[in-house]
Amino acid sequence: MQSDSALRLVWIYPDLLSTYGDQGNVLVLEQRAQRRGIPVETVHVRSADPVPEGGDIYLIGGGEDRPQILAAERLRRDGGLHRAVARGAALLAVCAGYQIMGTTFGGEEGQPVDGIGLIDIASGRGEGRAVGELAGEADPALGIPTLTGFENHMGVTRLGAGVRPLARTAIGTGNGDGTEGCHIGKIVGTYLHGPALARNPGLADLLLGWAVGAQLPPIDDAWFERLRQERLSAVLPR
Ligand code: GLN
Repeated sequence: MQSDSALRLVWIYPDLLSTYGDQGNVLVLEQRAQRRGIPVETVHVRSADPVPEGGDIYLIGGGEDRPQILAAERLRRDGGLHRAVARGAALLAVCAGYQIMGTTFGGEEGQPVDGIGLIDIASGRGEGRAVGELAGEADPALGIPTLTGFENHMGVTRLGAGVRPLARTAIGTGNGDGTEGCHIGKIVGTYLHGPALARNPGLADLLLGWAVGAQLPPIDDAWFERLRQERLSAVLPR
């Protein structure tokens, strides 16, 4: 982020991918930046439009199999997200959006479909649908509290060398191997809806901190904390 300008958020393909409140992730980032006095500009990029390269944080959500395939084709052809990440932009990719970032994912009949190859992960169809609450301890390297969210997907994901799991799952399926999501550089992939950043403000601040290049001062998170405690105590043993 340039010091004299606003933080630029780019919400990719709201017309194709945004299930289970994923757009809330954009609202949470906007609000948490503004509460720190950081001006924000948000661009909603529909799937017929080019992805701008000058954003600071890119967000993409989850969706059904067919819109997911269409989104992968368009993003690959467009190339704007690749160029933005190469420039050092941060990215939060949720569920279908997460799977798209890899080399391959499972289509509506389970057939392999090409992803956009931004990161070394590969997804396919799992044995059944993973639906329900997900919770797990985040990678200690990230310094954020227990992750909580909601998942609904058929896909399972394998991480390549150098790509680290976002969390170890205590409840739920995530990647399908005891881990959930991934992170590499300033990219975070996750199966968490809910929306993820409303339920994990620590993750929101991690993305904001990457974008502004500094750790952000704490803010009053009493309401976020109440939501987190309610959700975590519903699923984790005390
Ligand atoms: N279609 C993908 C799957 O079922 C992603 C689902 C989603 O984004 N909720 O795995």
